[in-house]
Amino acid sequence: MYDIAAIRQEFPILSQEVYGKPLVYLDNAATTQKPRCVLEAIERAYTSANANVHRGVHYLSQIATEHHEAARRRVADFVGAPSAEGLIFTRGTTEAINLVAYCVGERYIQPGDEILVSTMEHHANIVPWQLMCARRGAELRVVPLTPEGELDMEAYRALLSERTRLVALAHVSNVLGTVNPVAECVRLAHEAGALVLLDGAQAVAHTSVDVAALGADFYAFSAHKVYGPTGIGALYGRPELLDELPPYMGGGEMIERVSWERTTYNVLPFKFEAGTPDYVGSTAFAAALDFVTALGLDEIAAHEEELLHYATERLRAEFDDSYILGTAREKGGILSFGIGQIHPFDLGTLLDRLGIAIRTGHHCAEPLLRSMGHEAVARASFALYNTREEVDRFFEALHRVVPMLR
Ligand code: PLP
Repeated sequence: MYDIAAIRQEFPILSQEVYGKPLVYLDNAATTQKPRCVLEAIERAYTSANANVHRGVHYLSQIATEHHEAARRRVADFVGAPSAEGLIFTRGTTEAINLVAYCVGERYIQPGDEILVSTMEHHANIVPWQLMCARRGAELRVVPLTPEGELDMEAYRALLSERTRLVALAHVSNVLGTVNPVAECVRLAHEAGALVLLDGAQAVAHTSVDVAALGADFYAFSAHKVYGPTGIGALYGRPELLDELPPYMGGGEMIERVSWERTTYNVLPFKFEAGTPDYVGSTAFAAALDFVTALGLDEIAAHEEELLHYATERLRAEFDDSYILGTAREKGGILSFGIGQIHPFDLGTLLDRLGIAIRTGHHCAEPLLRSMGHEAVARASFALYNTREEVDRFFEALHRVVPMLR
């Protein structure tokens, strides 16, 4: 059974008040709160297993290495990676995408080649490709969306050609909530001979991911969006492909031998992990994944869908001039909206005073917002610990502040 009261007990931050009001945290697409098991994993690592990994013969270093490598297997397993050698720890989704853009660019991209992204991408899945295209003389092409905020699949098919070297797509949009038909997108891209990177930042906390079944060449995600710590994330890459790529950053860990004449590189995944890794973050990341796995991703998704549905219906019914960005058939727990001419910043600021945390702005997706005729929008995003009562409190607050802003 989905025991929401017991679940909330695991998140100490949720019981605090802001401005004398109980916190209603609806900014989960930006980052999620952390359960006790994650906080305890961090404390445990520093109090009982802190030593630099991989190069120590002493006890603590070996324990820390064991924990770090066990965490790698856990993270790999969570996304259905066939082996842990393709699982590279990064600082997050952003670094993972930059790694692929740099290394694939260096190895495979020639002038005239094309990289395909979609209009709904986060800046993290736009700018690295712009940098790569500028460096390599390639061209960035953009798949348009339907009015509902789904990928225009006809346009996608038409844009794929023998010039397309790589397709980079969000699995789930951080603004529209759209769940993209990524398996079909991968299949079509592969038919055209292109590689595929999926940005899973918004997907991993809400849906079970199987990179092997999806057939993705690369899959990027961040721990902090799935109840894990900040500062760590992962890139899954097909090992045979990663083997072909040049290293990203140079330094310790990523080398086999170093000499003035010739430096050789470590095996996967270490070739892409220069410097001391976040071995504390990795164990806390694994603890977060154990937590969501124990609750069940299907149960979490059903819970969030119910909250999204309830909030969407109330917004439509109670605010005549409200609008929603993203009405895809398949949506994650994200509600991006506006009410009349009210500026989202004003709305967010007044809601905050009533304890309601939502996000306002361009949500790192300026091209998407502009394509829909907006500069900013308000966003409420739901997580496994949010409740129907919190949605009620959110609407109570909206009914208080909206008349003040009209
Ligand atoms: N991609 C999407 C869809 C996101 O929502 C985010 C974060 O908001 C990112 C990428 C970047 O993630 P991070 O800042 O953890 O690297």
